Amino acid sequence: MMTFYEMVQRNFHRAADVLGISDDFRVVLLRPRRQLIVSVPVRMDDGRYCVFEGYRVNHCVVRGPAKGGIRFHPSVTLDEVRALATLMTWKCAVLDLPFGGGKGGVAVDTKTLSTRELEALTRRYATEISILIGPDTDIPAPDMYTDERVMAWIMDTYSEHHGHQVLGVVTGKPISIGGSEGRLDATARGLVLALEAASRRLRIPLVDARVAVQGFGNAGRTVSHILAKEVGAKIVAVSDSQGGTYCAKGLDVSAVERQKDEEGTVLGAAGGDRITNEDLLGLDVDILIPAAMEHSITAENADRIRARVIAEAANGPTDIEADPILSHNGKIVIPDILASAGGVTVSYFEWVQNHQGLRWEPSEVKRRLKKKMEDAFTDVYEVARRNSGDMRLAAYVLAVSRVSEAYRIRGLYP
Ligand code: NAD
Repeated sequence: MMTFYEMVQRNFHRAADVLGISDDFRVVLLRPRRQLIVSVPVRMDDGRYCVFEGYRVNHCVVRGPAKGGIRFHPSVTLDEVRALATLMTWKCAVLDLPFGGGKGGVAVDTKTLSTRELEALTRRYATEISILIGPDTDIPAPDMYTDERVMAWIMDTYSEHHGHQVLGVVTGKPISIGGSEGRLDATARGLVLALEAASRRLRIPLVDARVAVQGFGNAGRTVSHILAKEVGAKIVAVSDSQGGTYCAKGLDVSAVERQKDEEGTVLGAAGGDRITNEDLLGLDVDILIPAAMEHSITAENADRIRARVIAEAANGPTDIEADPILSHNGKIVIPDILASAGGVTVSYFEWVQNHQGLRWEPSEVKRRLKKKMEDAFTDVYEVARRNSGDMRLAAYVLAVSRVSEAYRIRGLYP
């Protein structure tokens, strides 16, 4: 099986073929600018020392500082972080944000750590990667198993090193210390805006649409909530790492959220049938939203997908071998670098507010997010219409053309 990083590179080459980019220049565009591996020693509560491995990669900074989340997960590797950093370059370019791509991670199972251990790990990791991060160089944000509390610790650690507060070094902070209104639900809201744009163009109604959501964290939970409560869609299935719950008539999303908070899983929640993550992918639904990890939709299961639209909240959920199967079966894929870009877009708004010492009202953030997502959707849709109709290829073509143009205009130093 192709690795996640190989897949990201393959998608780039498909776009580079369309754009006629030479082999030597492809290497310039693809090779990460900086890749840092760090050891993160932590004194555990029982007195033992434990050393975790962490990474921070800046893929490209030609359109602006590197931007991208930090993931704490046992399966994090340098290769995965490289892939995610590369995706961030294209995602920021699709949204036309003045950022390049970065990503970080630590190989750790946060469920086994106390709060004190998590804080120690975060602060030491922030210290180790402080040779890269900064408000004008590389700006982290939350990703899997990191949240606004982790961002607050990173901002505080960096600020203590510098002897003064540096708000713009991370985004996704709590609002009380420089976070933006609308950041917490931005990824989900951005995805819903992309779905609404698709629904208008393709005449697929969202009211009463049957939706299955894989992953019930920041992205998946919030998207389920907004689609059910604000849009009027029917969330028929959700899942997390332990499995899921299914009700053909539609789940009571508030009841699912309560069980997740109280019992830590959505398995069988809201009186639904217990299902596996594999079952969820094959359900008879209109919209499928993968919001967990990469390698979720594969060559083995793609043929079983019955949803007409697949909106990727997760980064890299679809294997490259699965894409032609989905396309052959007439599925519409709204790709990750477009569909899940709401988070980085409001991160950009947070960074702008931090730089200007301003605080925007929630309505201002929502208005700007709507414009950004709708413009990006239109840009991608128009490229897709002129080519094969493949939205992933179109998003990559748009992104790679913007990044290569910036390279050409700046020239190569020295
Ligand atoms: P999170 O840690 O808040 O939630 C992850 C969820 O996925 C949890 O419910 C977990 O139980 C579930 N999960 C983990 N492994 C699973 C598996 N094998 N099968 C099914 N469910 C599984 O993370 P998040 O921030 O919601 O991120 C989820 C995805 O969205 C990631 O791919 C991330 O890169 C992407 N993403 C997140 C943001 C953001 O702003 N948080 C922005 C863009 C993209």
